[in-house]
Amino acid sequence: MNEHPDIPHDARAKRLIDPHGRAITYLRVSVTDRCDFRCLYCMAEDQSFLPKRDILTLEELDRICTAFVEKGVRKIRLTGGEPLVRRNLMWLIERLSRHLEAGLLDELTLTTNGSQLRKYAARLAALGVRRVNVSLDTLDAEKFARITRRGDLAKVLDGLEAAKDAGLAVKINAVAVRGFNDAEIPEILRWAHGHGFDLTLIETMPLGQIGGDRADQYLPLTEVRARLEEDFTLEPITLNTGGPSRYVRVAETGGRLGFITPLSAHFCDTCNRVRLTATGTLYMCLGQDDAMDLRTPLRLSRNDALLRRAINEAIAKKPRGHEFVIEEGNTQGVLLRNMNVTGG
Ligand code: SAM
Ligand code: SF4
Repeated sequence: MNEHPDIPHDARAKRLIDPHGRAITYLRVSVTDRCDFRCLYCMAEDQSFLPKRDILTLEELDRICTAFVEKGVRKIRLTGGEPLVRRNLMWLIERLSRHLEAGLLDELTLTTNGSQLRKYAARLAALGVRRVNVSLDTLDAEKFARITRRGDLAKVLDGLEAAKDAGLAVKINAVAVRGFNDAEIPEILRWAHGHGFDLTLIETMPLGQIGGDRADQYLPLTEVRARLEEDFTLEPITLNTGGPSRYVRVAETGGRLGFITPLSAHFCDTCNRVRLTATGTLYMCLGQDDAMDLRTPLRLSRNDALLRRAINEAIAKKPRGHEFVIEEGNTQGVLLRNMNVTGG
């Protein structure tokens, strides 16, 4: 008997293993390039967005995600742009939650700026979402408005309360920006852990044209960590997510702190992820331009054979790793796509 009628047996037998022996079990999906914020390190003030016809419909997103689940993907993260501004996103989450119920997916989660969490947190929890990542770089309302160019801190804090009330585990993502939040990081740490949230600090990545010099913003996390160690005891813990995070336990707060340092390629060996853009382009590595168009095979036929073949071809091309360089006057490694395209 086929216990998962949605997914044929023969398809389930085929797993995605890249040429470097890594199993691909994690899919990050940008469901829209649009956003209600314009964070300084992510977008330009006058950012232009993709025409609607180029964006995958929710049904198409479900088809692609399901094809990946058939091939052994166990975790899906929806991101953007801002995923919660995509109209009717709850329909997609409800569709994908059938894979959670069937035991084919371990986790369905989101990375969000939190502006819409008050509205959606309870629904997300009801649909099987257990955790969300919420991006927040400062606890000062005026600075928050400045870095997001249009965000309202009070609304995000209220959204976080709603997430907590709904029983969602929260991880706060804060981008470390030189001259902006360096001095505030200990306070953000105490605040996050005080609320029972994990905290991950992210190094600025040289992605996309944003207007302004990246080198001005770049703050190495080695520097941030050294400063935190003056006030806190950071105890290394082994939590291998297959991703670019290194985790410690902060003895004084009991909370977990992660460091995402994508500029060092040390995590590439265990990379288990690929990224889908809202237009159906699959990026095999955040730091490389290798990509595969999945929208064309998807739209060519109602049957998923062409799509499956394209996914296999894409994984066969996953590069071993990346090389980013970020220095004043040196744009080597600066990719032309912005973070709102690949979703981080
Ligand atoms: N809008 C959602 C949010 O902000 O969480 C999801 C998409 S956003 C592109 C995903 C993550 O990428 C956020 O945590 C954001 O801070 C981070 N990000 C954006 N641009 C970045 C950059 N140039 N370097 C490092 N992180 C960046
Ligand atoms: Fe929007 Fe997230 Fe980019 Fe900020 S980081 S502009 S919230 S997509």
